[in-house]
Amino acid sequence: MTRFAEKEFDDAALKVYEKELLERYPFIRKEVIGYSLLHREICAYSVGEGGALIAAVFHGMERVTGAILTRYLFEKAEEVRKGKTLSFTAIPLMNPDGAQIALDGACAAGRYRMLVQRLSKKTPFRWQANARGIDLNHNFNAGRITLRENEIKNGFVTRGATRFGGTEPESEPESAALCDFCRRNDFALAAALHSQGREIYADFENHAPQSAAIANKMAEISGYTYCEPSGTAVGGGFKDWFCKRFCRPGFTIEIGKGENPLPKETADTEYDRVRAMLDILIEQPSLFREG
Ligand SMILES: [Zn+2]
Repeated sequence: MTRFAEKEFDDAALKVYEKELLERYPFIRKEVIGYSLLHREICAYSVGEGGALIAAVFHGMERVTGAILTRYLFEKAEEVRKGKTLSFTAIPLMNPDGAQIALDGACAAGRYRMLVQRLSKKTPFRWQANARGIDLNHNFNAGRITLRENEIKNGFVTRGATRFGGTEPESEPESAALCDFCRRNDFALAAALHSQGREIYADFENHAPQSAAIANKMAEISGYTYCEPSGTAVGGGFKDWFCKRFCRPGFTIEIGKGENPLPKETADTEYDRVRAMLDILIEQPSLFREG
C-alpha cells in the first residue's frame, strides 16, 4: 500500500506531503490562492507556466480525490526532476473546511459548528458543502438560473450539506479564490476531480467543443464513461464556468465506484486509471498536434 492510501486526506495530511514535496522538488512553486471560511490555506502547486489546471476536493466527502492528485503531483515532479518538460498546476484541497467536517464532524466547523450541527441533521460525515452550507460546485457563474430552478425543484432551497449554491456566484471565498487564480493565469484546460461513478463530463453549453475529443480519449484509456450530466449536476460547477469564461476545454472526472466517502485505499486501487486520464490532460498539446 502506498502512503497516500494509508491515511485519510485532509489539511494536516497535505501539509505533511507539502513539506516533503517542496524540499525534494524545489522547482515546484507553491501559491496560497486564498483562504477558506475557517482560514485554512487553499494552495496551488505549479510546474512551468500555464498548461493544465487540476483541482480536487470541492466536496467534503470526496477527500480521496485529493490523495490521488497529491500522489500524481509527486510522480510528475519526479519526472520533471529527471528532465521531462511539463506545465501544470495542482490544487489538491479546494474545500478544506468541508473535508474536515466530513472527516471529524461538526466540531471541525469552528464558529459554524451550531449551523453545521443543525443542517447536517446529525450526519456531518456526509457533508459536501463549505463550512456555512454552500455547495462550492454550485457557486460558479455558469447556467445559474437553470441550476437554481433545479435546486428548488429538488428541495435544495437553503443552506445545507449539499447542492445549495447560494444566491450569488463566487459568494464563497473558496470559489472566488479559484476564479481569481484562473483569471490571473493562462491555463490551456482545467479538470475538477470528484467522486464517484467512473464518469467524465466535458464542456458546457458548447463553449469548448474541443473538450469532446479529449474526453473520448480519456474514456477509452480508463474505462470511464463519457456522459452528459442531468438535473442539479448541470451548471454552477467549476468546469462549467471555466469552459464558458475561457472557451477552453474543461472536465469533471468522477473518480471511483461505490458510496461516498470512498475508502482511503481508493488512492491505490483507482490510481492507474486516473493517472492515465490526467496524463492525457497534461500532455494535451501533443494530442492536438497528432489530431
Ligand atoms: Zn463532487
